[in-house]
Amino acid sequence: EKYKKASKHIAVMAFPFGTHAAPLLSIIRRLSEAFPAAMFSFLCTERSNSSTFPKGHQKHDSIKPFNVWDGLPEGYTYCLKRNPHEPVDYFLQAVPQNFKDAVDELVAETGRPIDCLITDAFYYFGADIADELKVPWVALWTASPRALFSHAETEFFRRHVGINDPVDKPLDFLQGFASIRVADLPDGVVRGNFDASVPVLLNKMGLTLPRAAAVAANSYEDLDNAVVNMLKSRYKRFLNVGPSNLISASPIDDRHGCLDWLERHEPASVVYISFGSVITPPPHEIGALTQVLEESNFPFLWSFRGDVEKQLPPGFPKRTSSKGKIVPWAPQQKILEHPSVGVFVSHGGWNSILESISGGVPMVFRPFFGDQKLNTRTVETIWGFGLGLEGGTLTKEATTNALNFILSTEEGKKMRQKVGVQKELAYKAVQPNGSSIENFKTLVGVVTCHHYL
Ligand code: UDP
Repeated sequence: EKYKKASKHIAVMAFPFGTHAAPLLSIIRRLSEAFPAAMFSFLCTERSNSSTFPKGHQKHDSIKPFNVWDGLPEGYTYCLKRNPHEPVDYFLQAVPQNFKDAVDELVAETGRPIDCLITDAFYYFGADIADELKVPWVALWTASPRALFSHAETEFFRRHVGINDPVDKPLDFLQGFASIRVADLPDGVVRGNFDASVPVLLNKMGLTLPRAAAVAANSYEDLDNAVVNMLKSRYKRFLNVGPSNLISASPIDDRHGCLDWLERHEPASVVYISFGSVITPPPHEIGALTQVLEESNFPFLWSFRGDVEKQLPPGFPKRTSSKGKIVPWAPQQKILEHPSVGVFVSHGGWNSILESISGGVPMVFRPFFGDQKLNTRTVETIWGFGLGLEGGTLTKEATTNALNFILSTEEGKKMRQKVGVQKELAYKAVQPNGSSIENFKTLVGVVTCHHYL
């Protein structure tokens, strides 16, 4: 019924892994608020939809989840320890046909054709589907403009970096990349398996995005201006509309009492640790980190993705209970806004970086895959409000040095000031008439009017 009355029907295709679907939905919610007469159909796998649309939180009934096939063989059981990329590979074998089938079903079921297609930017095939439907294609990039640029310019990077070049070769042939090294580029740009499913997807994305009516990103204009300008010259419209965490706050779930616990600590004293929604570091690195925490005096709050009994040293939680708190999930955004947090030990996921900027908290990075190394190096050498670990992994010495540097030195205080400057710029971007708000208005125009094509 709602579909029949709606002024437009907008189909959204989300990527069901990592922290992709949630930020996409947050932008869709904003679009829905700006454009309440439209219906949005949010297409993703059942598993992802059931966590992105938790029961009871569904305020927006003009955004409806629809399930697409996840590509998994009959009887497949999720075992992320076996190979976390396996479900991704199966899923990528099922695209784009699973989405095309879902669109056909959606149109048949609702009686409403599609007026605009919004996809995660990963889905290069959105360009063809939108052409077939004769509607505009809008791509939403949920990571950093710089990571997008490295996929957009993969051919260029491959031309300039030989297979035998050392991994620490600087990318000084390109403006704004002189302090970035070959090893920092995302997997599959100039190193790694070019034929693996995700690198193939991202490379095709880079080649196809110029066809999008608009490419929107979860960032703000001032954060990486030179790169943002290069992207603007490549796409019909490149629109930074974030940081989305400053615009639409997600519901706070503090069932483990993290915020009360932070209240009991001195300003800028607590080490907050989280490696995102997917990663648990390997056992020897967890061992080194627990040793550092045990031997130092820093209070710590750890959002630990794993089995505390099996994966932490026996007795560690008890021995450190006077200064440490370990939880399975934390209200990260709120934690980073709390004045007690002094440093964020992170894997360098883009949402984590934006949230750390919004809280004004300097960072220490242990990057693992995808864009995390590029993010680490960018924060460390260009923006200057965080540190990569010496040697790149969580050893006892490197971790101690990084924490001491940020929490106990004058240079560490300067890092806090630097991230404070970014914080101000981020808040400025989302104020009325701020760049992200103006860009968002342009995005609404593209989504609602065909003549923007
Ligand atoms: N997050 C959270 N609580 C936790 C751990 C993570 O709320 O205990 C959220 C965090 O605020 C961020 C997201 O999960 O929004 C992680 O996203 P990011 O891009 O940093 O990493 P990914 O999960 O994609 O690896």
